[in-house]
Amino acid sequence: MAVVETRKLTKVFKEGELGAVNDVNLETREGEFLVFLGPSGSGKTTLLRMIAGLEIPTAGEIRIGGQVVNHLTPRERGIAMVFQSYALYPHLSVYNNIAFPLKAQKVPKQLHKQKVEWASSLLGIGALLQRKPRELSGGERQRVALARAIVREPSVFLLDEPLSNLDAKLRASAREELELFHKRVGTTTIYVTHDQIEAMAMGDRVMVLHKGYMRQLGTPRQVYDTPADTFVATFLGSPPMNLLENGDFIVGFRPEHLLPSELASNPAITFRLKVKVTEYLGAEWILYATVTGGKFDGKEVISRLASAASFAPDQVYDFGVRDADLHFFDRNSEKRTQPKVLAWQ
Ligand code: ATP
Repeated sequence: MAVVETRKLTKVFKEGELGAVNDVNLETREGEFLVFLGPSGSGKTTLLRMIAGLEIPTAGEIRIGGQVVNHLTPRERGIAMVFQSYALYPHLSVYNNIAFPLKAQKVPKQLHKQKVEWASSLLGIGALLQRKPRELSGGERQRVALARAIVREPSVFLLDEPLSNLDAKLRASAREELELFHKRVGTTTIYVTHDQIEAMAMGDRVMVLHKGYMRQLGTPRQVYDTPADTFVATFLGSPPMNLLENGDFIVGFRPEHLLPSELASNPAITFRLKVKVTEYLGAEWILYATVTGGKFDGKEVISRLASAASFAPDQVYDFGVRDADLHFFDRNSEKRTQPKVLAWQ
């Protein structure tokens, strides 16, 4: 259950260009499930590959279990990595696929059976050991790949979008399985995804990356409720947080906090909204509207409601946001701030 640390970890692929990863300082907690979350190209995979030993850092240090590992090979680092494309050996049975790393590591043969059985029972694939990969579903193959990764009992797991090849339904159940599995083995795990739902659902903590920089590291609740900057504020949450410029500040509020005035008691800010479109999503409604009048006249905002049955396009309604639901960001730095005085509308 080793702790992974990085100090000022940087990767520049081409000299003179912006780094793929820049000055990342990170310390996992023991046994934690840490998620790297960010859009495509934000540096998640590069960061993970440096920790794994598959990519040489341009600068900075990596420690695993307190030991500097920059000079160690992937195998010597005691980590196991599962990639998005977790190729299994098609001609080998599930058993032999899982046993493969043991052979490569020259673990005595008499121990293979016991270890393969342990790993496969943890993942609930004990009955599939004699099958070939082509005789398995996508989810089962996924589990074989995980079993193959854990059979060596690594001290750290690195998972790079391991669920992205699965369809939506299977993804949800595989996610749950991974969470249960993590609880059972308790191995420190770093998980890369660009899917915020996955990150929020699975992560003990989430590290949000943008253009190779760490923007925030916190629990799912911290990054959602108190985003460090406008990037984190809009990257997490769907639809994204509404942001309106107001002098030196940017005012933010989440769609679920923009409520019809009868629901927003003592609103700190009120809007007269002209509804453009309402979208019915089953459990909720999304309402797209334009502010009419006041300081924010003409701005587009989004509201998320349990019911929007009483709102019709082209009609005007009063909405509000409570004080506790407002976020403020500095207009220049776009970082979270708390203004002392703010002149409203
Ligand atoms: P995705 O979600 O699309 O996998 P990511 O967040 O994992 O993206 P990386 O794959 O780490 O992002 O890429 C970060 C940046 O580094 C990108 O701009 C990418 O083009 C660049 N990059 C990655 N690998 C290399 C490489 N081998 N050579 C040059 N540039 C690279």
